[in-house]
Order: sequence, then structure tokens, then C-alpha cells
Amino acid sequence: MHEMMVAENLLAVISDEAAKRKIKPIGAKISCGKLYVINDEALCFAFEAISEGTCCEGLKLEIEHKPIQARCKKCDETFNVDFSNPNCPKCESSDFELLPDEPLLLEEIEFQED
Ligand SMILES: [Zn+2]
Repeated sequence: MHEMMVAENLLAVISDEAAKRKIKPIGAKISCGKLYVINDEALCFAFEAISEGTCCEGLKLEIEHKPIQARCKKCDETFNVDFSNPNCPKCESSDFELLPDEPLLLEEIEFQED
């Protein structure tokens, strides 16, 4: 299961940070592109399962799906693609290239304050 691998990576990175700071992490924000196929629920479930008994137990995962971006070949504008109207918002051209999808990123870890 793909989500399990992602969850394991996240747990490793977050645990590492927590150990460095000696504080308990209580939340984490991750983001990924829309084309990145990940099931939020499956990821949270996997994370919950493997973090049991670790410092990350009970940590809340927040997943943000970023829109797909494109670059207009005519005017060089970069924009978020709206698939119901996929034209450049600046010059209305439909001649554009899709930019690579954003990878999965760990944006932020929230730590418990004392
Ligand atoms: Zn344009």
C-alpha cells in the first residue's frame, strides 16, 4: 500500500525532528499536487496505526491538495489550471504546457507548547 510507505516516511521525519527538539509533535501539515494519488483517509489511518506507542501517537495530519499549474506558451503566464475552462487567464490562449505536479511535501510540524 502506497499510503503506508508515505506514512512511514512521515513518521521517520517527524520523530527525528521531535527528538532533536525534545518536544512532542501534535500535528503536521503536508501538501501534494492534485495528480499525486493519495487517499487522505488511508494515509491518516496508516499513520495512526504505525505511530501507536511512538512520540507521534495522536498526531493530527492535515493534507492539502494543491491545484495543477500550467505555463502559457504565448505570454509565459503561470496559472492554476481550471479544467472546466483551461485557458490562460491573461491572454486566453489554450496553448500551454502543464507543469510537473508538486511532490508530497511536509510543510509544517506543530509541537506541543509547555
Ligand atoms: Zn497567456
